[in-house]
Amino acid sequence: MIHLKSAADIEAMKEAGRVSAKALRKTGELVRPGVSTLELDRFAENLIRMEGGIPAFLGYGGFKGSICSSINDQIVHGIPSREIILKEGDIISIDTGAIVGGWVGDNAATFAVGEIAPETRRLLEVTEQCMWDGIDAARAGNRLGDIGYAVQSCAERAGFGVVREYVGHGIGRNMHEDPNVPNFGRKGQGIRLKKGMVLAIEPMINLGTHKTRGPFEDRWTVFTADGAPSAHFERTIAITDGAPLILTAE
Ligand code: MG
Repeated sequence: MIHLKSAADIEAMKEAGRVSAKALRKTGELVRPGVSTLELDRFAENLIRMEGGIPAFLGYGGFKGSICSSINDQIVHGIPSREIILKEGDIISIDTGAIVGGWVGDNAATFAVGEIAPETRRLLEVTEQCMWDGIDAARAGNRLGDIGYAVQSCAERAGFGVVREYVGHGIGRNMHEDPNVPNFGRKGQGIRLKKGMVLAIEPMINLGTHKTRGPFEDRWTVFTADGAPSAHFERTIAITDGAPLILTAE
């Protein structure tokens, strides 16, 4: 069931979005060679709590981090660890979520660690562009498939693979609500988008094959099937009468 949000609900969600966005931006500023993903996690958790929020991922389904930190061929849901140390040439997807006043915000970005390979740089740029194309399609009167189509065509134009098994989602008082928001689809297909829907739009785009493997022993971390890098960008947005409203913004 899709929970439509009132204007007051959306106003309240902006605060969860603001804290999520600040946590993402400030944690991203710490990305450099030699930092462990656990340090990033501790920083993000502290920031979220200082801003009056609760880390949305901590304890979710038993998840042990306040952020998801996914490196190189890890697509999503990497678990922060003191043993994972960033090194020059890595990329890291950081996903942060905060609960404020019972509402959830969720956003992600992929950061370069020092200098990265040109094709990996292009993967990051294209994946972020795919997210914006998807967001731009999130308009009342369009259909869910229009979002997926926009993301998929952006990625495939560049020759990249679109992850199928993990998708965006509705969000509100729960982090994951209906509907699922695939990053692939056909124009004009799927449910009609309405004012008051709040969605987390989050392309996961692979440099090589779209296929995934895992999770394995840790039950969370998802990898690309071919070991090639993967990027991930996400915003929480509200559908309005006009342009989509970005809720995960400072
Ligand atoms: Mg999400």
